[in-house]
Amino acid sequence: MMTPLRPGEVRSTCCYCGVGCGVIVETQETARGAREITGVRGDPDHPANFGRLCSKGASLHLSATGHRYEQTRAAHPEMRIERGEQRRRISWDEALAHVAGRFAEIVRKHGSDSVGLYISGQLLTEDYYVFNKLAKGLLGTNNIDSNSRLCMSSAVSGYKLTLGADAPPCSYDDLDHAGTVFIAGANPAFAHPILYRRLEDARAANPAMRVIVADPRRTDSASDATLHLPIAPGTDIALFHAMLHVMLWEGLVDRSFIEAHTEGFDALRDTVRDMTPAIASGLCGVPTDDIVTAARWFATGPTLSLYCQGLNQSASGSAKNAALINLHLASAQIGKRGAGPFSLTGQPNAMGGREVGGMATMLSGHRDINSAADRDEIARLWGVDALPATAGKTAVEMFDSLADGSLKAVWIVCTNPAQSMPNQSLVRQALKRAEFVVLQDAYANTATAPFADVLLPATTWGEKEGTVTNSERRISRVRAARAPYGEARDDWRIAVDVARRLEAQLRPAQPSLFSYRTPEAVWNEHRATTIGRDLDIGGLSYALLEAQGPQQWPYPAGAAGATERLYLDHRFATRDGRARFANVSYQPVAEAVDARHPFALTTGRLRDQWHGMSRTGTVEKLFSHMPEPCVELNARDIERLGLDEGALAHLTSRRGSIVMPVKSSEAMQPGQAFVAMHWGEEFLGGQPGGRVAHGVNSLTTGVYDPVSRQPELKHAAIRIMKAELS
Ligand code: SF4
Repeated sequence: MMTPLRPGEVRSTCCYCGVGCGVIVETQETARGAREITGVRGDPDHPANFGRLCSKGASLHLSATGHRYEQTRAAHPEMRIERGEQRRRISWDEALAHVAGRFAEIVRKHGSDSVGLYISGQLLTEDYYVFNKLAKGLLGTNNIDSNSRLCMSSAVSGYKLTLGADAPPCSYDDLDHAGTVFIAGANPAFAHPILYRRLEDARAANPAMRVIVADPRRTDSASDATLHLPIAPGTDIALFHAMLHVMLWEGLVDRSFIEAHTEGFDALRDTVRDMTPAIASGLCGVPTDDIVTAARWFATGPTLSLYCQGLNQSASGSAKNAALINLHLASAQIGKRGAGPFSLTGQPNAMGGREVGGMATMLSGHRDINSAADRDEIARLWGVDALPATAGKTAVEMFDSLADGSLKAVWIVCTNPAQSMPNQSLVRQALKRAEFVVLQDAYANTATAPFADVLLPATTWGEKEGTVTNSERRISRVRAARAPYGEARDDWRIAVDVARRLEAQLRPAQPSLFSYRTPEAVWNEHRATTIGRDLDIGGLSYALLEAQGPQQWPYPAGAAGATERLYLDHRFATRDGRARFANVSYQPVAEAVDARHPFALTTGRLRDQWHGMSRTGTVEKLFSHMPEPCVELNARDIERLGLDEGALAHLTSRRGSIVMPVKSSEAMQPGQAFVAMHWGEEFLGGQPGGRVAHGVNSLTTGVYDPVSRQPELKHAAIRIMKAELS
C-alpha cells in the first residue's frame, strides 16, 4: 500500500544518477491557473531510497524554477540557413519540415550511413525506443549512439563476455547481506550518494563487514574503507589477477562451482600464474600484504562488487570488467544473496537505453546486431523489410567521421558533446565541418548550442512522462508535474513528428511505423520486443507500475512478481548455461606518462554537481561544496612546481591546454592530478570578460576500448606549469 499523495503532489523519479531514487514532486497553482513546482521530497515507498534524497535530488525543484533557470531553457524552435548567421525563431511546423527535408536530402544524396543520431542516457525509455526505430528502421542506418557509450559500454561488454547477457545480477538489498563489499573505480559517496547511505546503514548493522576500495585517489569512499588499495591508474587487471593468484595458491577458489557452472578456467589460471602479488605490487603500487588480504576477504564473502567509471572509462575497460567478474566466478561469489558483480550506472536511464538497444552496436530487447535472425525478428516486429547489417558508428567514431567529412549530418538529443566528449578540439572541428547539425535539448545555453543549425526545444524532468531503469534493473515511472516550458515538446513526440515527415519522403504511400499517440503506446511496443528475452517485461504494463510501484526485470506476463536476483540456479545467459572465464591480460594505460607529460590526470564527479551542470548549475547552493573548477594535486607537487594554493596553472596534454587554479588535496598521490568533469568553458571568478578556463575534456584522449568502444576518459598524461598572467 503506497503512501497517499497530498493535493498537488506527483510521484516521479530523480533525473540525476543511476541509483534511481523515487521523489514526490510538490506543485502549486499559480495566479494564472498553471502549475509550478514548489518542492520535492523523497518517496518513502520507493525501494531504491525509502524516502531519502541526496543534495542534488533534494534541490530538484530549485533547478526547475527561477530566473537563472528560465535564462537557460530553450523556449521555441530556432533555425539558421547559413553558418555564421544567428538562428531565428520559427514555428514547429517549419522546424520539423526542415529537419526531415535536410535529412532525407542528405540520405538520398550520400546514402543512409551519411547521417547519425547522438542521443543520451538521460532520455526516457520511450524516447530512446522511438529514436532507435527511426534510425535503424526508417533511415536505414545503425549510426545511432548515446552518451552512455562514455559511461557504461565496458560494463555491458564485461557482462556479455562472462555471463552471456547485459544483465546486472544484483539488487541494492544485497548490501544488507554482504560480508565483503569490494568497490573498484567508483566513489559512491559522491556519485551514488543514496546507495552509499545504504552501505553505511549495512555496515552499522554488521560491524564485521569489510569494505575494500581500489582507487588511485583517497576519495571519501576510500577514506571510510576497511582497506584502501591505492592502485596506480589503469592497473586494475594486475590487481585482480594477483588476487586470483592468491586464491589459487591458498586453495580459496571453489573447484566444484568452477567445474559445474563455468568454462575456460584452465587458460585463465595459466595467465594469472605469473601475476604474483609481488609482481602486481610493482605494477599497481599496492603493498603485497594488502593484495593478499583483499583476496582472502573477497573469497570469504559473501562478496558484492560495486564498480563504475574507473573500470569502464578505459582503453581496456571490457577486460577490466571481465577480470573482476572472473574473481566472482572463481570464488562462487555470485548467484546468492549478498554476492555478485554489480555495475553502478552513471546516468538515470543508461539501462533503459541498453534495453531498447538504442546504440550503434545493439538491437532492441538485448538482441545481437550481428545476428541475421535477431535483425529479421526486429524487422518483422517493426514492419520493415530489413535492418542494416553492420554496426554503426559509436560516439568517438561518429565525431571522427564528422571531422573527416564522411558523416554529413548529426542530430544531437539531450546531450552536450562540445563539453562531454574527449579531445574537444577535434569534436568542435567536427561540429563546424558537419553540413547539418540539429540540437534537440531542453537547454539553449550548452557548449553545443552555438553549433546547431536547428534548435528543437524539448521538455525535461518535471514535464515529461515515461519510464527509467536504475542500476538494479528496477523500472520506475517518471511523471509530469507541470506543463512544458514555452513551446517545448516531448522528445519521443518530436522524433515521431520528424519520422512521419521522413516517411512521406523515404517510404511514401506505406503505413506509418510511428502511429503512437502516447508514451504508453511506445512502452507497449517496447514490451512486445522483449518477450522471450532475458529481460522479458511482457507483464510490466503502466497499470501494473501504477498499482504496485517500481519493479525489477525480468517480469514476464503472468509472473507472480519481479526478479530480485539473477542466476540463483547458477545457469547463466550463455547458450549452454555455463559462465565463461575471460582470459584477459593486463594492459597499461593508452598514454603513458613521460618526461614531457609527467602527471597522470584523472577525471571524476563532485558530490553536488551533475554532468555538464545544465541543471545543477542554476542552483546557487550546489556551488558551496566547490565553487569553481580547479586541479587537485598533492601538496608536495604544488611545492615542487613552485605554485601556491589557488595559483593558476597551465595543464597541457598532447591535445590541448587549459588554465585553472591549483588546490592541495590529501586524496592525491604525488604525480597525480584530478579535475572534475562538470565544468566547460568558465570565466574564472565568475566574471565575464575574465580569464576563461576550458573544460577538462580539452585534455582527454579519444583512444577507446576495442570491444566496448568506450574512450579512456579516466586517464591522460599531462604537464603542469605555472600560468603567467597576461
Ligand atoms: Fe538522485 Fe542519485 Fe541523489 Fe538518488 S542518489 S537523489 S538518484 S542524484
